[in-house]
Amino acid sequence: MSLSFGRDVLRPSLVRRPAFNSLAESASAYDFACVACNSTLYLDLLDLRRRAADASIMGADHADAIREHFDIGIVGKSHDGGWPRFAVEVCHRCGTRYLVYLGWQEPNNGIDVITVQGIVELRSGAASA
Ligand SMILES: [Zn+2]
Repeated sequence: MSLSFGRDVLRPSLVRRPAFNSLAESASAYDFACVACNSTLYLDLLDLRRRAADASIMGADHADAIREHFDIGIVGKSHDGGWPRFAVEVCHRCGTRYLVYLGWQEPNNGIDVITVQGIVELRSGAASA
């Protein structure tokens, strides 16, 4: 199965601020516009972090392609210095699929700091999640 990336919604950044910090009791809601139909995808970052996986989310064969697309270095840390986690999201309106890349830091037990580092469209024909 091939994995091909479409349009980027968000590219990783070394200086991006976390979207969620459980210590600051910030909201865990995050949204972005679908590149295909412009409707809004609503994410719950805590839920997303819980069901996110490592770079082998689309199969071990595709882990390198995912790390390469998001410029994740050989050390394997996310751009914010945390752990890279990935989840697939689907536009409820048009069915366009996205791979979401989170940086997850857990500085203390039970505290989550989540940075949304990347969002990319998955082209049809890509391996199923
Ligand atoms: Zn859509």
